[in-house]
Amino acid sequence: MSKFREKLVRFMYGRYGADELYNFIAKLNFVFIIVALLLTLLPVWRWLVYAFYVFIIAIDAWMIFRMLSKNIDKRRRENAAFIKFRQKVKAGFNLTVNRIKFIRTHRFRTCPHCGAVLRLPRKKGRHSVCCPCCRKRFDVRVRF
Ligand SMILES: [Zn+2]
Repeated sequence: MSKFREKLVRFMYGRYGADELYNFIAKLNFVFIIVALLLTLLPVWRWLVYAFYVFIIAIDAWMIFRMLSKNIDKRRRENAAFIKFRQKVKAGFNLTVNRIKFIRTHRFRTCPHCGAVLRLPRKKGRHSVCCPCCRKRFDVRVRF
């Protein structure tokens, strides 16, 4: 191992390093830099472009802070919260896609007892539904 690498390994020992949140912020940061460079080409909104650069530097500082942090427990909790949030966004996106995909044949309703989202055949009027997840009944209304 070279001397520099040895020093780096010793420096990083006990520090948090990169995770999913780091990768996400790194990608977002890359997009922001490209946007900032494109904005620089415009002859207007100078102060806004500078403010955007300051914002990008703040994001970079946060990324470096997280990577070098020794408070590993807290950083792990942040990452777990991020993953949970990302799953929620993905689930919401998938539901919207399915609502559009099945707009002619089905309607989506949430079970009031367990929160499961059910895909129901599109039949107008009031119906009683048995949830396949929790086996409880509830009423749904399909208007259109
Ligand atoms: Zn249910």
